[in-house]
Amino acid sequence: MTRTRTPALTGARIDRADHVRGDADRLAAALGDRRARLLLLDALDPVVEDGLLGWTSLGLIDDGAEPLFLGLLDDIPHFAPLPADVSRIDGRSRSAWAALTLLAADEAALYASARSLVAWHASYRFCANCGSGTVIAKGGWQRDCDGCGAQHFPRTDPVVIMLARHGDANGVERVLVGHGVGFPSGRMSALAGFVEPGESIEEAVRRELFEEAGVVAETVEYIASQPWPFASSLMIGCLAEVADPTLTLDTKEVDAAIWVTREEVAAALAGEEGARFLAPPPIAIARTLLETWLG
Ligand SMILES: [Zn+2]
Repeated sequence: MTRTRTPALTGARIDRADHVRGDADRLAAALGDRRARLLLLDALDPVVEDGLLGWTSLGLIDDGAEPLFLGLLDDIPHFAPLPADVSRIDGRSRSAWAALTLLAADEAALYASARSLVAWHASYRFCANCGSGTVIAKGGWQRDCDGCGAQHFPRTDPVVIMLARHGDANGVERVLVGHGVGFPSGRMSALAGFVEPGESIEEAVRRELFEEAGVVAETVEYIASQPWPFASSLMIGCLAEVADPTLTLDTKEVDAAIWVTREEVAAALAGEEGARFLAPPPIAIARTLLETWLG
């Protein structure tokens, strides 16, 4: 296996500073720091200025908005705003995609973290245990219930995303890419699905490949992971060896799938005219998997 490429949306430079989150005095000092910065957001979208995230002074936070502590960057406290009115917050909206392509990798990673955190607060204002209201704790990395005292933590949903690979009798290896229902025309990507309770990563990869494509994975190899902020998933990228390449597609999820050679993947990644498929965008870990397999 060749060296794994680094997925997009990773590599934030910020120190999450758990020692500040959990210490009321240190958190108060961070909130009172005149240098403290507040992320500019338009609903959940970033405000990008010259390829960098836009920030303002924490003192300029909107009335009723609550600051969520992102951490320390160059020793300066950084926050994201949770607006008083969360009706415009849609964690699944993909309107930020274009802005993400304008940001440097570490800036995009910091934004992705802030976005998932704000979206979580917006949708977890009530206790899942008793239905009472919840309030921010630990600088924004916890919510506590007023009624039953339950503590709630920002959630991340694990998703497996995998390239099945198959070597034929002549030693030619191909990988499987599919067109998900709702993808742009021609776009083909790795297959993916949520990990279910009680499953290991390997078991989820095997189940999803069988459900969506009807292929049986012999071995599963972990490659890399990526936080995905729409709304808050952890994409777990794998390669899976398949002995029998015969496909039986679940067309409700994947309406087309093809086995592609190294040459075909290289042409797609290069965006060549006449390439057999349209490659996933650079932000997607599916592209990282294709690049890693290609070597
Ligand atoms: Zn409760």
